[in-house]
Parts: sequence; structure tokens; C-alpha cells
Amino acid sequence: MSVPSSSLSVSDIAENICALRYRIAQAAKRVDRSPEAVSLVAVSKKQSEGLVRAALEAGQRVFAENRVQEAQAKWPHLKAQYPDIELHLIGPLQTNKVQDAVALFDVIETVDRPKLAIKLANEMAKQGRYLPCFIQVNTGEEDQKAGITPVNTTDFVTECQTQHGLHIAGLMCIPPQDEEPALHFAFLRELAQRTSLAGLSMGMSADFETAVEMGATHVRLGSAVFGERN
Ligand SMILES: *Cc1c(COP(=O)(O)O)cnc(C)c1O
Repeated sequence: MSVPSSSLSVSDIAENICALRYRIAQAAKRVDRSPEAVSLVAVSKKQSEGLVRAALEAGQRVFAENRVQEAQAKWPHLKAQYPDIELHLIGPLQTNKVQDAVALFDVIETVDRPKLAIKLANEMAKQGRYLPCFIQVNTGEEDQKAGITPVNTTDFVTECQTQHGLHIAGLMCIPPQDEEPALHFAFLRELAQRTSLAGLSMGMSADFETAVEMGATHVRLGSAVFGERN
């Protein structure tokens, strides 16, 4: 479905976003959910400023990047121009980048270990920027993937809330490539119910409709919006 982004024009991006919003709404309706309950998070990693500007001109305001350094080069001037941008961090966060991340991002989706939670809480207090966070859960328990293990999730959520005072908005997962994503979405929803969290960041370009049907509040769409990454 995706074509190289170099061949996408400004109007292609607007069309993609419009079509994706429609598909999200249809998926939501199939399970009696309100389309407004689902936020389309446009994943702009490795995409050019021209394509990002096209999305902004199409009215898109929620974006995500997976690397702090790349985001720092791309977003400060765009955020100055469009103050209502909501920028999510969806990649692993090293503790030495926490200061920069808290200064730039509006939502941190990848809280995945106690040391990071402590560092984030301290930095947010220092900057007076109390950002909503998601706990990344390694639902497939993959060695190479970040995230808290499912069995530790409830304790970690409680620890983040009560000991560190973080505002935990929900849970986030990236299912294993070779497994049925629906099983992981259902599992994440179950974990969120157990911890009384409302937010569920799950679903990407290939499986977002399933994710919406299973309760996603945030779908992270990259190639479906912008075309394939370079
Ligand atoms: C890149 C990325 C996405 C977007 O993937 P697409 O398949 O291009 O939609 C979503 N979530 C995370 C964490 C990513 O790193």
C-alpha cells in the first residue's frame, strides 16, 4: 500500500490522513466506540520537514518521533509556529537524554524501567513540566525489545504513580512481528484494566483497525501517513 515518500506530495498526505481518519472512525463504530476516543498519532521519524509541514497544513497536530536527537533538529521551530502540536516520544529513552526529552516532548510513551521513571520525575519537577507518560509493556517478552514484563506491570505502574508521582496516562506496546497482534492488544487492554488506566497506545499502519476495535486510544501511524521511510 505504501509508496516511497519522495513520490508523495502535499495533497497525498492530506488525502492519506483523511482516509485514515475515516478508517479509524469505521473501526470505532463497529465496536460502539466514539471515533473521538481515538487519537491518530502521526509517526514522522525519518520523514522530511516538507512532508511534516504537509501534515500540519492538513490539520494534523499529534506527532511522534523515536529519537530525541532527530526530534530536536526537526521540531522546536515547528512547535514555535504551531503551539498546539502534541509531540510524543515513542522510542527508547536513555537517562542522559531525559533533560532534552522533557523539554521538547509533550508525552513520553516509553517509560520502561525504574531508573528512567525516577529520572523523569526529577527532571519534570525541575522543569515544571509534568508530562503524561505511558508505560511500555513488552507483551511478547522479547529479549531485544524494551518494556516492562507483563508480570511486573501492575507493581511498576503503582510505583510510578505513588513513589515517583508520575502522571501515568496508559500502557503502550509493540507486538512481536511474527505473532497475531490482536492477542497482544487484548493482553495490553487487560493489563490496563487491572491498573485502572484509560490510555492504550497500540496499533501501527498494518494493524491499527484491529487495535481500535480492541480499545486503542492512540494509534501510531507512520508509513500509512507519509509513505515508506527512507
Ligand atoms: C516507527 C514506529 C511506528 C510506525 O510504524 P508504521 O508501521 O510505519 O506505521 C509506530 N510505533 C513505533 C514505536 C515506531 O517505532
